[in-house]
Amino acid sequence: MITIQNLHFSYRNKKVFNGLSLSFSPGHIYGLLGKNGTGKSTLLKNIIGSLFPTGGSIAALGRTPAKREPAFLQDVFIVPEEFYLPDVSIAKFIASNAPFYPRFNKDQFASYLGEFDIPADNSLQQMSYGQKKKVLISFALACNTAILLMDEPSNGLDIMSKSQFRKVIAGAIDENKCIIISTHQVKDLESLIDRITIIDEGRILFDQTIENISSKLSFKVSFDDAEVKEAFYKEDALKGNVVVSKNETGVDSKIDLELLYKAIVTNGDQVNTLFQNQS
Ligand code: ADP
Repeated sequence: MITIQNLHFSYRNKKVFNGLSLSFSPGHIYGLLGKNGTGKSTLLKNIIGSLFPTGGSIAALGRTPAKREPAFLQDVFIVPEEFYLPDVSIAKFIASNAPFYPRFNKDQFASYLGEFDIPADNSLQQMSYGQKKKVLISFALACNTAILLMDEPSNGLDIMSKSQFRKVIAGAIDENKCIIISTHQVKDLESLIDRITIIDEGRILFDQTIENISSKLSFKVSFDDAEVKEAFYKEDALKGNVVVSKNETGVDSKIDLELLYKAIVTNGDQVNTLFQNQS
């Protein structure tokens, strides 16, 4: 659905990507993780065609995003990290924007607003940033585009809203859609994504399915000195150590995304070797 090959991208005097290759298929929710300033937004903007690669290629829905063809633009949506919504009623916002998206569904939009506890007759003018963000996420989902990109969507959402967000996204995915969510708040994607891609300084540090990760790595509290010593990553806990280690039992373990992220950032080469050896 999206194939990125040897992507090069630079801002005027800042090189961000120097040969990045990655692909995304329909039916999945992807997590794009990495610290601030590492290129996540830039990658999403290249996929959506609002920034143009300086080298390499991107194919999405069989088209080249940079050409910005209407048939492509009506089937992709990005919820940017920073956005502006006009001071109008929700109804007026929908009337002006929904016509650009042929598969927009009014009933779905109303039901997403309901999930987020946003009264449908509100004006955007009276809303907080978090409420506006929930309106935008509801609109994005109701557009039913094949590709949905979300840049740091959980920023500005409180704890309850974050769980509403997870529920809404999990219910919205189907076999025709591809959702890519970028975040530096790793925990917010727990139990939501199918594959995790960690990028750093424009490079892919790690790219694996959740299924692979839970079968090959184990996340637990350990009291065994030898196991702690061997672990890919360890952290002192009140009792014992929390560790990320090789899964020796064959029993799938529940992934702690934050620990995984730390393990990759501090010891990525070793963790990746495990995946290469066993795949
Ligand atoms: P992330 O989304 O991972 O936080 P970005 O893609 O926003 O990272 O930024 C990647 C790098 O490109 C950063 O070093 C950032 O400072 C730089 N950058 C982002 N936008 C611009 C711009 N418009 N002009 C110049 N440099 C930029």
